[in-house]
Amino acid sequence: MKKLSEIELSQDLIKIPSYSGYNPEAINYIKKYLMNLGFKCDVVDFEGDGSYKVNNLHAIYNPNNSKEILYFAGHTDIVHEGDAESWKFKPFEAQIDNNKLYGRGASDMKCAIACFMRAVAEFIELNPNPNFGIGFLITNDEESDSVNGTKKMLKWMQDNNYKITSCLVGEPTNPNKFGEMMKIGRRGSVSFNLKVTGKQGHVAYPDIALNPNSIMVNILRILNDHKFDEGTEYFDATNLEVTAIESQNIGGNVIPNHISANFNVRFNDKHSSNDIIELVQYVCNKSMIKNNIVESKFDLQYRVSGESFLCQPNKIAKIAQKVILENYNIKTELSTTGGTSDARFIKSYCSDMIELGLVNKTAHKIDEYSEIDEIIQLKKVYLEILKKY
Ligand SMILES: [Zn+2]
Repeated sequence: MKKLSEIELSQDLIKIPSYSGYNPEAINYIKKYLMNLGFKCDVVDFEGDGSYKVNNLHAIYNPNNSKEILYFAGHTDIVHEGDAESWKFKPFEAQIDNNKLYGRGASDMKCAIACFMRAVAEFIELNPNPNFGIGFLITNDEESDSVNGTKKMLKWMQDNNYKITSCLVGEPTNPNKFGEMMKIGRRGSVSFNLKVTGKQGHVAYPDIALNPNSIMVNILRILNDHKFDEGTEYFDATNLEVTAIESQNIGGNVIPNHISANFNVRFNDKHSSNDIIELVQYVCNKSMIKNNIVESKFDLQYRVSGESFLCQPNKIAKIAQKVILENYNIKTELSTTGGTSDARFIKSYCSDMIELGLVNKTAHKIDEYSEIDEIIQLKKVYLEILKKY
């Protein structure tokens, strides 16, 4: 079998339109490649729990049955390409132009998978008997429901006695240039919808009405001004943003009956979503008003997208920082910014974890691409991490 480079592997993966769900072609491609290298591979499908069927891959190379296993985790699924006609090159043709590889998944995150595949091939050729195991945990459902993917695979791995010692998640982590940033945690996120009901009436007779707008303004001012914390070693301060306010607009002389507002809180490792929800409920409760005819009421709905987590930088973070510094003279920032990824599930099974991949500025966009040079750099960094592990 001809040895494919990380660029060719990336192109092959991009050419497969593996939308979230049951699309086994990309996973089977990786499985075949890894089996040729001597990996033991399991394709595991899950379905149910209110979501669609998903195919996932577990692969392991552990000739010495070592207790230490370094895993690479990632996803083959992609978000939709949108209007394909608007792309400079077709989203599944994997065109190279001006030193860039274009295609859906180039940044997020097929090229990173290709880099680790190639790095592992080179590593095993140099060192077929490593004193640690190498694993792959690949799902085809990170971008959408995330119900039958990584979360269930982790449980499956636990049931089958596969323990993750360290984990490298291949999500794109750099804002502009390869090597500048890796992630060691993420903020949590909770979104609220608050509705306040008063009593409609004439603006000239406020004593026989109850204005919900004043109450809402007061609540939002208190929440907006609240200092949740000062930030922590690796996190920015917890922050609340009001995203929408919608009042009834009945007329210039009418006090409306109700008003609603949406706001979101991004919180650091000093809080859980429960603390935040309790605080918001407390402020709402304390802000209700009663006059001689009526009492205001509120209805608070919320949705937790994820809790915050932090992996204290340990073995894998230190090796990765050292490798990038030695090879590219870049001091990599350890960050907790950005949206959620499957790392939030892995955290419960492994505390030595980083996310380190390519540049994320074109992820999910039209004309998604990765720089060829940076794909080669990422492969080299993954290989050096394996050598130093
Ligand atoms: Zn991703």
